[in-house]
Amino acid sequence: MSNSLNIRFDNSYHRELEGFYVPWQGEQAPAASVIQLNHGLATELGMDFSNLDQEFAAMMFSGSDMFPGAAPLAQVYAGHQFGSFNPQLGDGRAMLLGEVVDTQGRRRDIQLKGSGRTPFSRGGDGKSALGPVLREYLVSEAMHALGVPTTRALAAVMTGERVRRETSLPGAILTRVASSHIRVGTFEFFSSRQETEKVRQLADYAISRHYADLVNAEDCYLHFLNAVCQAQAALVAKWMLLGFIHGVMNTDNSTISGETIDYGPCAFMDTYAPTTVFSSIDVQGRYTYVNQPSIAVWNLSRLADTLLPLIDDEEDRGVAKATEVLNGFSSAYFTNWLDGMRSKLGLITEKEGDMELCTDLLKALERQNTDYTLLFRGLSDAALGDDRKIRILLSNEDALDHWLTRWRSRLALESVDINQKIAMMNQTNPIYIPRNHKVEEALDAATWHQDFGPFEVLLELLSSPFERRPGYEIFEQPAPESFGPYRTFCGT
Ligand code: AMP
Ligand code: MG
Repeated sequence: MSNSLNIRFDNSYHRELEGFYVPWQGEQAPAASVIQLNHGLATELGMDFSNLDQEFAAMMFSGSDMFPGAAPLAQVYAGHQFGSFNPQLGDGRAMLLGEVVDTQGRRRDIQLKGSGRTPFSRGGDGKSALGPVLREYLVSEAMHALGVPTTRALAAVMTGERVRRETSLPGAILTRVASSHIRVGTFEFFSSRQETEKVRQLADYAISRHYADLVNAEDCYLHFLNAVCQAQAALVAKWMLLGFIHGVMNTDNSTISGETIDYGPCAFMDTYAPTTVFSSIDVQGRYTYVNQPSIAVWNLSRLADTLLPLIDDEEDRGVAKATEVLNGFSSAYFTNWLDGMRSKLGLITEKEGDMELCTDLLKALERQNTDYTLLFRGLSDAALGDDRKIRILLSNEDALDHWLTRWRSRLALESVDINQKIAMMNQTNPIYIPRNHKVEEALDAATWHQDFGPFEVLLELLSSPFERRPGYEIFEQPAPESFGPYRTFCGT
């Protein structure tokens, strides 16, 4: 059994951005124990988990002991939450341990989430309950397997401590890996204090870390804004194609890297309905499914505000340049979305009329009470002429007949073999998503019965979401009626 991990930290945020964080130490966990270790991700990071001593791992991933070479800190940021500006947020229950350069040469943050109070905790306890830790583990790993840029889960541990929410719950800590934790809100923090040089320093750091080809570019801050726009457009298109609803797209939960971050009240849409919203705190429906692209632009506009003094000395000119970049979001988004839709529909080439074909499908689905994920997966059979799986999903069985005929004639224009088209569809339309009732079942079993079995099974299925596993048919199915309408909570 090994009780060393030999992580080679290289902490550039700590080294280069003094004043952007507070050095910090976690709290001791009274009785830390390992729930889950992500061996695959560890290998990617150049770590070997195979013989890791569990007690050692529990001490390290609970923050009770510190890895040699780590430089733990709490990052400061601000953010627009549901549209209103909060000038002071920051890591209130998280601690960045440091960075490693992975086996592919990519710099990755390693962060503990739930490790105790920091100077940015405000009224909070700095802790995480077990449920939200497992939820972030499951959903972020599922998103990764589905091909969506996202933070990852490296480890989950119990602290042995109870945390108080509406009720007393077991405490836990997630070790999160991100390409960085720089948020739109990080820029807003310094911009709102008129610290333009700090905004510049942060932008220079973010450019060299995430968009290195822009380092010496003319107008690099404008190009930087554009690069973040493009990354966010690609990201949100992926969310939309999968039916993912983030739930709390505040600017502090919006990354510069274009990775999905801060899985709180997120959920996958089951029944297709554009205005779906799950989060109990989103009473206005600001972050509904269909609003996500426009909210992304709104968030990018807040980033643009912070960069204006760097973009041009003259404000009006800066605004004009930034506006032009922001206007480019829409076409980037639709290009990504249409590319993704083509794959979902087995279409390889680009043809005129494809956009209408895709949007007409969604229009036809609007009042059909149909399961979004099953519908798309069912198209693989329909491509071969067997519509039965599709028809039983619809309120009105004939609702798609006309569209299916149109789609099959469009498919026939592709010269490749039908099996090749179906193979592409089956690599794009998942069988398994983190279905809300299954996620809740896994969290409940762990929280109330210390039974991690359902969590492990679900994690395993979600790690290969396109591959059918015999015996697990139940995981493909929508929630039973008795599950009722789904609500998610921020209680993280
Ligand atoms: P989030 O809901 O993850 O986007 O968090 C919003 C802000 O609240 C961030 O600044 C968090 O650090 C902070 N926060 C959330 N939960 C806690 C907690 N239990 N203790 C302290 N701060 C928290
Ligand atoms: Mg957050």
